[in-house]
Amino acid sequence: MGIGGGGDDMKYKNPGYRKVRNAFPLEVSCGYCKMPILIYAKEGRGNLLKLQVPRVIASEINLAQHPGHLVCPSCGKVLARRGMYNGNAAYWVIRGKVNSKRLEHY
Ligand SMILES: [Zn+2]
Repeated sequence: MGIGGGGDDMKYKNPGYRKVRNAFPLEVSCGYCKMPILIYAKEGRGNLLKLQVPRVIASEINLAQHPGHLVCPSCGKVLARRGMYNGNAAYWVIRGKVNSKRLEHY
């Protein structure tokens, strides 16, 4: 798994990822079973409220074929709800259901 390894081993790269300036890589993991779910390019210091799909760098879930809510592939819990933000697909994090940590290198 990606724990400590910088998440290089995520199954899927997001072909729709759009690089943004001043973002840093964040490993987002399941709040229940701790499985790393995706690597996200986070802007700013605020809490992680939403996951905009174009900012997802890589993930354990094939988001392109995953029209529903964000479900942990390991324990099956719903972590975030599918929606929209600024015209793009997004997942709205259910409060307290994911953990995140900043990666030094990705
Ligand atoms: Zn889980």
